[in-house]
Amino acid sequence: MPSRKPDHLTMMLRLKDTEPSRAQQPDGETVGRLRLLVSGVVQGVGFRPFIYSLAGRLGLTGWVCNTSAGVIVEIEGSGDALEAFTNALEADAPPLAVIDRVTSEALPPTGEPAFTIRESRPEPGAFQPISPDLCTCPDCLRELADPEDRRYRYPFINCTNCGPRFTIIKDIPYDRPSTTMAAFEMCPDCEREYRDPLDRRFHAQPIACPACGPRVWLAGPDRSGLRVEASEDEAIAGARRLLKDGRILAVKGLGGFHLACDATNDEAVKRLRERKGRVDKPFAVMMSDLAQVECHCHLAADERRLLESRERPIVLLWAKAGQRPEISGDVAPRQKTLGVMLPYTPLHALLLEPEAAGEPFPPLVMTSGNYAEEPIATENEEAASRLAPLADAFLLHDREIHIRTDDSVVRIFRGAELPIRRSRGYAPYPIHLSSEAPHILAVGAELKNTFCLTRGGYAFLSHHVGDLEKFETLQSFETGIAHFEGLFRIQPEALAFDLHPDYLATRYARRRAEREGLSAFGVQHHHAHIAACLAEHGLETGARAIGVAFDGTGYGTDGAIWGGEFLIAGYRDFERAYHLAYIPLPGGDASIRKPARTALAHILAAGLDLEGDLPPFDALQSSERAAAEHQARTGLNAPPTSSMGRLFDAVASIAGVRHEVNYEGQAAIELESLADPAEASSYGFEIRDGEVSAGPVIREVVKDVRRGLSPATISARFHNAIASMIVEVCGRIRADHGLRVVALSGGVFQNMTLLGRTVEKLETANFEVLTHRCVPPNDGGISLGQAVVAAQLAGVRS
Ligand SMILES: [Zn+2]
Ligand SMILES: [Zn+2]
Ligand SMILES: [Zn+2]
Repeated sequence: MPSRKPDHLTMMLRLKDTEPSRAQQPDGETVGRLRLLVSGVVQGVGFRPFIYSLAGRLGLTGWVCNTSAGVIVEIEGSGDALEAFTNALEADAPPLAVIDRVTSEALPPTGEPAFTIRESRPEPGAFQPISPDLCTCPDCLRELADPEDRRYRYPFINCTNCGPRFTIIKDIPYDRPSTTMAAFEMCPDCEREYRDPLDRRFHAQPIACPACGPRVWLAGPDRSGLRVEASEDEAIAGARRLLKDGRILAVKGLGGFHLACDATNDEAVKRLRERKGRVDKPFAVMMSDLAQVECHCHLAADERRLLESRERPIVLLWAKAGQRPEISGDVAPRQKTLGVMLPYTPLHALLLEPEAAGEPFPPLVMTSGNYAEEPIATENEEAASRLAPLADAFLLHDREIHIRTDDSVVRIFRGAELPIRRSRGYAPYPIHLSSEAPHILAVGAELKNTFCLTRGGYAFLSHHVGDLEKFETLQSFETGIAHFEGLFRIQPEALAFDLHPDYLATRYARRRAEREGLSAFGVQHHHAHIAACLAEHGLETGARAIGVAFDGTGYGTDGAIWGGEFLIAGYRDFERAYHLAYIPLPGGDASIRKPARTALAHILAAGLDLEGDLPPFDALQSSERAAAEHQARTGLNAPPTSSMGRLFDAVASIAGVRHEVNYEGQAAIELESLADPAEASSYGFEIRDGEVSAGPVIREVVKDVRRGLSPATISARFHNAIASMIVEVCGRIRADHGLRVVALSGGVFQNMTLLGRTVEKLETANFEVLTHRCVPPNDGGISLGQAVVAAQLAGVRS
């Protein structure tokens, strides 16, 4: 998301203020000594070898050492050499290093004769950021393909510039005994590379080779012969044969298991859907290289760069029609986009390499190895029992995964990254805060949960935990929190949670606050969305902005279900300036599953009756229709909502697009995918004091449906109407309050059609618009917002 070295990063070389102590050498040259503390992502990224060779080149003596607070360097030599060293520290740092801060102190020279690398040492309470897992680097890929190399075709090849990090780290400082690689004893060859400061694998903690490292093998579904005595090559060749035969394979990867099958094989994809209990939600596809991606998808330069980035997320791309072999229609039903990623481990590279005849290997569906919304499986035993009914065979390995991470999902919006799911490759890289925060744990929301811990200028946002509705996910949430607290040496002083009393995360926070006697702050859902957006843009404490928070569900301060909100918000508090007018949601959750029910409520709220013919009327059984109508008319078991997500549902149903959903946001996604980009006309909302009524929009949609207009036209007019309404409401707020910064957040803003039109219109109207680039606009970004709000409130209280 943010490039690893954004220009706003606090690069604080304070060396200019620090005159080294000097001593007169016998030859007349002045010698000084400096002690530098370098913090940021500086361990496990080849930083010490870089320091070592830099010092050697400049003829400096001294030492370098990893500590749990960062890297400490002492250098001694001539003033010119010291200056050259400190300049190069920034300019020439290794590719994966991210230097946040360098502090320096002058010391008296000691006459040390050489430069050495000292043993790592832990410092109580100290902490530092940890690198995420990163894709295989070009040097390792070259060795992987070189028959002369001792790691030729070895599926776990890695070096200081690539490979697993976060998923194998149990504690800091980051050294082999603190990782899941501790179980593998290095062979003499690996040991030599590991000890050689000039080797690319110097202190590469996951270093391994065929003689000493992890192995891969293929096992049957019944766990009999769990370890088939085959060579790595035979195991991978066997896996490829099964995939080409249309079988479903459970593949153990970097952060957990994938379920894989041939994405061009309809039967195989259908079977995977049935077994996984996933009806329509799209699957991601792994393709062997950019050429293959280009066969199936439109690819802009920014998307190409993102696909090939070392984070290797799933990138949502516009699919091309009519390519051969075609990706099965069951991969992403009724969608115009396809989620695509490139191989990111050596095992993937071998699994998807071209056939002997040069033919490309078919693209593979690669979906998380789990049922529906359970956490992704990580261990062999666990996978064997949980995934046995799903997979025809298992491609296993014996490197333990300490922390699970799902694949990240990102799109490109106006040349910048828009995260949809921030996990592998990004977590646990911190978000930099504009001011120092106390130790706070923010527990996030219910769906797409992440949690967030703050300390100093950092917010450590967790990997994607998932939907906290099941016991397994809750367990994964709790162990994840304990792991992060240990890793970053954070003991929360305060907790932050969503106001929804029934969210499992909320209950966890309240229980824990009571048990440990901590302060706890309830943060309103949409306030948290907007605060997250302000925080990632580094807005100052005390700043205020117009926050447009549109999503499906968020608990309001009045107990209603909010979701179409215009806030005047800072970090500390907010004011609800405008919102979509409440409608009753017949049966609550039942309406979330069935947009047709919400459509009835919106039609009634618009002052229309339920006479005549309309798609949602026919979509419901008469008894259900009668019950929903009764609920909508009386408000019985029909909580009031201002949800924009539900308005999308209603319009999708009235336009005949979808009446029942199988995953969150499905109706809105399908409605968006139909929108005619050439349609310029619009519907109109009614904007009164503090309220935006969708009544006129619903009446016009009903009229257009009855006139026989296409869903494509209706969808486009509806999108245009929302974009115009946003600009109109923001204009009124600007007139009243003098604010011109608008932050857009909430799951609805994953809708690229709406986001694009809204940003364009707001900018034309001279607003400054903030959209998400570091954390998702959906509930995956909520925990960051909760954390920054609680940081303010905790500061006030203490
Ligand atoms: Zn490498
Ligand atoms: Zn070895
Ligand atoms: Zn939300």
